[in-house]
Amino acid sequence: MNFQVATMLSDILKSLFKRPITENYPYERRSTPDRLRGQLAWNPEKCTGCNLCSKDCPSNAIEVITIDRKAKRFVMEYHADRCTYCAQCVQNCRFDCLSLSHEHWELAALSKQPFNMYYGKAEDVQTHRKKLAESKMPKPDPVTA
Ligand code: SF4
Ligand code: SF4
Repeated sequence: MNFQVATMLSDILKSLFKRPITENYPYERRSTPDRLRGQLAWNPEKCTGCNLCSKDCPSNAIEVITIDRKAKRFVMEYHADRCTYCAQCVQNCRFDCLSLSHEHWELAALSKQPFNMYYGKAEDVQTHRKKLAESKMPKPDPVTA
């Protein structure tokens, strides 16, 4: 038996009596680090709808849609799949409305749809999505005389 085979057998024997260092994911999950930059969180109470965040976003990942400025009704559209978690929007919002949550970090999915997120009151999100769908509908051909 040469030296390499002997070393290999010794390693195998040792590993039989050691606890595995791999984690049984997804059944066992570690808590997220406090400083993790995860999914964007938005506080609509403080938002003014200025859209500075979306203008400054290098990834075109956010947009704040005004439903009713006087009543402070806004919807935020957030594309987590475009977000680079750079926190530029968080730093630039003068009203301290944005933060990168360390709670939501498992953002994998099989399709793009779950990454397109809408924040705001349910009826406002519905209004915005309805308008969005209407704007994407093909326009009828103009009737020519
Ligand atoms: S920069 Fe802040 S206040 Fe302005 S739209 Fe974005 S979240 Fe709202
Ligand atoms: S964290 Fe960066 S990429 Fe993500 S929405 Fe904010 S500015 Fe855009």
